[in-house]
Amino acid sequence: MECSECHAYNKKNSVNCWKCGIEFAEIVKITGTSKNKIEAVIEVIEYPALKTISTIFRVMAWLIGIAAVITLIYGLFLIDNHETKEIGIVVTVYSLIGGLFGVVFILALSEGIKLLINIANDVKTLRENVGK
Ligand SMILES: [Zn+2]
Repeated sequence: MECSECHAYNKKNSVNCWKCGIEFAEIVKITGTSKNKIEAVIEVIEYPALKTISTIFRVMAWLIGIAAVITLIYGLFLIDNHETKEIGIVVTVYSLIGGLFGVVFILALSEGIKLLINIANDVKTLRENVGK
């Protein structure tokens, strides 16, 4: 086998490289550690970004919900007035449909992202356990 440090040829199952003296088991240890570090860095970068997006979606859902309620109340006031009754009905119906769909859809997106994070964590835990 070839030494990964100095590329000298060594006998199979050698403990040390005859040329540079590095322990072959040590190389495996070092490579393993650096790989874990890379994965840890990726995790730190990716998950908070997803969590932030998930939170933004939840805030958006709340804002749309509040806007829909305000529009609904405004629509009901318009219905109360004989001159604007027809416009009031349209505003009320649209605020109900739009508000409901908007809130449900965005909340589903927010929950979907959280679910993805959980699945990613589960897969990671599974992989770590299988590796042991
Ligand atoms: Zn070597």
